[in-house]
Amino acid sequence: MQVYRIPVLSDNYIFLLHDRDRHIAAVVDPAQAEPVLQQVRSLGAELTAIFNTHHHSDHVGGNQELIDRYPQLKVYGGAEDRGRIPGQQVFLRSGDRVNFAGRTAEIFFVPGHTKAHIAYYFPANNPGETGELFCGDTLFAGGCGRLFEGTPAQMVASLEQLRNLPDNTRVWCAHEYTLKNLQFAIGVDGDNPDLQRRLGEVKEARSRSQPTVPSSIGIEKKTNPFLRWDFPNLQSAANTHDSVQTFARLRGMKDRF
Ligand code: ZN
Ligand code: FE
Repeated sequence: MQVYRIPVLSDNYIFLLHDRDRHIAAVVDPAQAEPVLQQVRSLGAELTAIFNTHHHSDHVGGNQELIDRYPQLKVYGGAEDRGRIPGQQVFLRSGDRVNFAGRTAEIFFVPGHTKAHIAYYFPANNPGETGELFCGDTLFAGGCGRLFEGTPAQMVASLEQLRNLPDNTRVWCAHEYTLKNLQFAIGVDGDNPDLQRRLGEVKEARSRSQPTVPSSIGIEKKTNPFLRWDFPNLQSAANTHDSVQTFARLRGMKDRF
């Protein structure tokens, strides 16, 4: 399974999954249709699936046009998103599985950004592969999604599921927010040498307009303040010893950053 990253709008990424053997493709969160259609054509593939993480328009905006062009394709999304994702046919719950390109994705229910948000995790099948996580607007490189429909406790539980994945899992998040996220992070975890190094690398990459996605779970665990609610530095930055409270206060500070 080959993953292609398609930058659209001001800072969104669409991900196209390509099965070279079967000449088919699936798309994660098509904000727009045209860039997806172009990439699918250039691969000589047929689009067979849309994997949506949640209902926001910058994630489902291209659904209808893709369905019109490929009427056979299947649209997957979270069970709780029923009625909110255009063309949705498959209603996924925690623990469900979805097959593509000889790989099987596990579904994680990760409410917080929205009440219905799901993530798709393709574990590695064999030693040469890495796991691939498509987490929409739940976990970002250096940050996490805003809490539009969920509570801090829900988001911590959601992020904890992702934090438990193997360190080499690639994190394909839906936005290029990394630099701004790390500029916030350095203010609350400034003594963290891994974070200092990462901020330098990301500044350099962005100054050359290079993408910072995918990240990995290992990098996020070391540098993302929104996965570090139980670390002393972050708890003291949030002025509490409670993990959920730490997360909630950091998220509040980031909202105003
Ligand atoms: Zn969103
Ligand atoms: Fe988004």
